[in-house]
Amino acid sequence: MTARNEEAEGWILVIGSVNVDLVLSVVRHPEPGETLAGTGSRRSPGGKGANQACAAARLGGDVRFAGRTGIGADADLALDLLRDAGADLSATDQMPDVETGLAVVTVDEAGENSIVIIPGANGSWTPEHVRELGDAVAASDLVVSQGEIPALAVDQIAQLCATTGTRFLLNLAPVIDVAVSTLATADPLVVNEPEGRLALTALTGDTAPEEDAGTVRGLREAGVRSVVMTRGARGALVSVDATTTEISSPRVHAVDTTGAGDAFVGALALGLARGERVEDACRLAVRVGAYSVTRGGAQPSYPRPSDVLPG
Ligand code: ATP
Repeated sequence: MTARNEEAEGWILVIGSVNVDLVLSVVRHPEPGETLAGTGSRRSPGGKGANQACAAARLGGDVRFAGRTGIGADADLALDLLRDAGADLSATDQMPDVETGLAVVTVDEAGENSIVIIPGANGSWTPEHVRELGDAVAASDLVVSQGEIPALAVDQIAQLCATTGTRFLLNLAPVIDVAVSTLATADPLVVNEPEGRLALTALTGDTAPEEDAGTVRGLREAGVRSVVMTRGARGALVSVDATTTEISSPRVHAVDTTGAGDAFVGALALGLARGERVEDACRLAVRVGAYSVTRGGAQPSYPRPSDVLPG
């Protein structure tokens, strides 16, 4: 296996999903069986992997994105803002025989979203594809992945990180059936509140406590090195070593929460790759997440450094 490249400086490798988001605006979400007239629609780039890579690159990070798409107009749209943000796409594969991933996102007047995803090319990741990224993993300061590609591929990413000594940020969104060793390699594991409870139940078989602090403590006791739980308008809970820290988010008027978690993860990745402590990186991440909810869409809502709300 390739040895770790000690000369790398702040490089982030994001391995994950890339989609076209079809965003539908509605007054309220439809009930099952109901047909509802929407108030608008737009198509924009999305997918948790691409969103996180875009957020980190737009903030000035050195980012490589390894994703899988089809070819044609959807693939071009899916990668457009990543390219614009300056991300290196040389490890992204475009394949003629699969569709680019698609997410149908419905956003109501309160800014709450519901999402249906067709994985398309994102579902074609195999452990072999990940192994081909061995040199890129070794040359990076931080590898980031999420739950929108198959669990076996995420397990292989964790194994490569463990072998090369590269730090691994795992955003277990959605919660998929990764190996216990993958969760133990994550540093940090990033989850929102429901994901945290699901992950703890998956790990221990027990019902997770209602309290976020109890869930985070349970994840640490089950062997996870560090945990970051995002909590919407309440900010984040960070557990590192023996300390759990609450980090509050700036108060903002939320118009669209789509991709807020990805904005947070992208900013957290940037801080970690630059050698910051998890708590300090989260202080930037809550401000970046809060900025993103004040604007529509996922990637279009992510800030440049000069946009970030003061701490
Ligand atoms: P999504 O799935 O919509 O991307 P998520 O559940 O993964 O979101 P959240 O915990 O909702 O992630 O949000 C991530 C971060 O964004 C929060 O930690 C917070 O900093 C910021 N944030 C989200 N919603 C709000 C809000 N209403 N007001 C202020 N900050 C917010």
